[in-house]
Amino acid sequence: MNSETIRVTLNEDEMPKAWYNIAADFSKPMLPPVDASGKAVPPEALGAIFPMNLVEQEVSTERWIPIPDEVRHILYRWRPTPLRRAVGLERALGTPAKIYFKDESVSPAGSHKTNTAIPQAYYNKIAGTKRMTTETGAGQWGTALALGCKMMGIDLRVYMVKISFTQKPLRQLIMRTWGAECLSSPTTLTKAGRDVLARWPDTEGSLGIAISEAIEDAVSSPNTKYGLGSVLNHVLLHQTIIGLEAKEQFKKIGLYPDVIIGCAGGGSNFAGISFPFIADKIAGSSNPRVVAVEPAACPKMTKGVFAYDAGDVAMMTPLLPMYTLGHEYQPAAIHAGGLRYHGMAPLVSHARHEGLLEAMALPQVECFAAAMTFANAEGLIPAPESSHAIAAAIREANAAKEEGKEKTILFNLSGHGLLDLSGYQSYMEGRLIDHYFDDADLKESLACIKDLPKPPPGY
Ligand SMILES: *Cc1c(COP(=O)(O)O)cnc(C)c1O
Repeated sequence: MNSETIRVTLNEDEMPKAWYNIAADFSKPMLPPVDASGKAVPPEALGAIFPMNLVEQEVSTERWIPIPDEVRHILYRWRPTPLRRAVGLERALGTPAKIYFKDESVSPAGSHKTNTAIPQAYYNKIAGTKRMTTETGAGQWGTALALGCKMMGIDLRVYMVKISFTQKPLRQLIMRTWGAECLSSPTTLTKAGRDVLARWPDTEGSLGIAISEAIEDAVSSPNTKYGLGSVLNHVLLHQTIIGLEAKEQFKKIGLYPDVIIGCAGGGSNFAGISFPFIADKIAGSSNPRVVAVEPAACPKMTKGVFAYDAGDVAMMTPLLPMYTLGHEYQPAAIHAGGLRYHGMAPLVSHARHEGLLEAMALPQVECFAAAMTFANAEGLIPAPESSHAIAAAIREANAAKEEGKEKTILFNLSGHGLLDLSGYQSYMEGRLIDHYFDDADLKESLACIKDLPKPPPGY
């Protein structure tokens, strides 16, 4: 195989046998999660919502964590995912750049989220969990965990953000097909849901609200645990299989990417594609640019602050050190539902703090235009979330053209958009508008964290 190869595959024995934990390689240790008084939260406290085997991964600083055989065998049904060269897109742009993408859309649920859904359900099964609860934004995580729970024989209830529940009815049907129950959040079944409805009766819902509901349900029901689809360390850990495979695939064609791009909602697919390459940056063996792309409507890294904040509206989670717009922030109803989250994963936030990555924010009309270009050049219809990575890759490819420079671009195609065609419809009918986070909004959106503990000065 050489760099002209348009699809690079790996065999089962070439699939990674361990996940990569970037926490082992940071020059400064990460700040711990804390409670409202600023005291570090001990790992055991997380045992109320997650099984202890996942809590151990959450706090681990081991560099490599073995992937259990049972998990590997299930992932092998669709992994390793192809590394594809977007020759059609290169031609359409007339760029000298080589554009590659990791195709995570090939999983049965249509996105990268199965990479953590399968191991989370597995670790819950061996810990004796009988029922799980979770939230879902665009519906990708709910479908992925429905599949994971089905394979491991665990019941599942999904709290789905109302805006997506309405916009994406087909996702509910997938969850139900795989045996899960799916509710529009906020519901009146939880105190968190009832409180939100009393304060904001017209709310479109948000991931923060749905998380509160799912956690409340988990802690108040027997043999029930909660599963989170992004943000936490163990979730990002499971996603590193993406970048580990990509490195092997690039090795086969004798190339190494100059730029690595991922869209960033809670940060998991971005971490998945980029952390194994950031390991090389930390080791000093190569120095690729690493770019996280967030939506202009929810720009936590480019406009937010690095602070302690809760992961959810009702503040059920410990306070996490992260870039945030404030846990009460409810972003505009953009079509990339999976990117409508107020905060960025602590591991990604820490890596940004250490200068290991860049962030940019893009408006949705440019992203849908990029998705259309990609769909017409490559045939694949990307998820609206993934279109943010594509738009950034197109900007890079156009810059390469202007500079007359060759470069190798890698982006993560986090999922397909076959169930998100209503966004495409709005775009094609000219009804799509851009939403920007107004700098004046920041003070208001951060008001909810002003009395929370602060990271130590100089951090
Ligand atoms: C959930 C989702 C995202 C955003 O979540 P991250 O944790 O930031 O990866 C991006 N793309 C797709 C297709 C998703 O389903």
